[in-house]
Amino acid sequence: MEKKLQGQIAIITGASSGIGKGIAKSLSAAGATVVINHPVAATKDAADAVLAEIVADGGVGITYQCDVSKENEVVTMFGDVVKQFGTVDILINNAGLQRDSAFQNMTIDQWNLVLGVNLTGQFLCAREAIREFLRRGMVPEKSKALGKIICISSVHEVIPWGGHANYAASKGGIMLMMKSIAQEFAPKKIRINSICPGAIQTPINKSAWDTPEALNSLLTLIPYQRIGQPEDIGNTAVWLASDDADYVTGASIFVDGGMTLYPGFSTNG
Ligand code: NAD
Repeated sequence: MEKKLQGQIAIITGASSGIGKGIAKSLSAAGATVVINHPVAATKDAADAVLAEIVADGGVGITYQCDVSKENEVVTMFGDVVKQFGTVDILINNAGLQRDSAFQNMTIDQWNLVLGVNLTGQFLCAREAIREFLRRGMVPEKSKALGKIICISSVHEVIPWGGHANYAASKGGIMLMMKSIAQEFAPKKIRINSICPGAIQTPINKSAWDTPEALNSLLTLIPYQRIGQPEDIGNTAVWLASDDADYVTGASIFVDGGMTLYPGFSTNG
């Protein structure tokens, strides 16, 4: 693969599994040094295993424990990464979780946890990234942009999702946070975009694909007739982070096999 991100430092939150792992591998293959963030001591082994795969493929990186919903931990993570590598060029705001519940039974803890990680976590990391981009200044031989932020949102930033109101609210919130800061920082040449995955085969949605019945039912929602893979998102992230996407900012890019094309209308309606 052409090394379009050579010499750039990328923090990928929630990268010890799933989409974050896939993005870390793709960015590394494109030449970036990767910081594989994971939330707690229990996720360290999985993060180390991702790093081992990356190093075996000739890549460079570290793992870093930080709960993205905690301001002091996020500030410390960015400070430590800048101390070790000199700066941060790319932030992938990927960490996320679900705590599903019928709305009438949803607890304040379920609500706060999902909003805290999925939305506040993206705010905290984006703010630290932007502070660092502004501090560092432009390095034209590395990138045409001062910095790049990619928010991992979801098709549920536009598709309502009963039983998952906290999750859908967090993703809808990401959409307008992303667009607002993209507008605010475009004059500074900071590019901020979202990738909105459809159904990607990862631990977060295992029950939707781990039996043939579940997978068949899922495929009725996907015109392209296959479940997505983490590398589908990784490939898009490399493009968005590279100068090939230099005129792209404030965009929600749906990588969903057509899930947002109202597949129920393909035969009637
Ligand atoms: P996943 O469960 O494999 O990954 C989520 C990661 O976030 C995990 O590695 C987890 O350890 C990490 N995480 C959780 N809380 C954290 C915290 N406080 N701080 C740091 N990291 C934390 O699932 P995934 O599918 O890879 O999800 C990644 C992102 O993609 C999420 O934002 C999710 O909402 C989004 N997404 C996934 C799909 C899908 O179909 N898989 C679809 C749309 C959007």
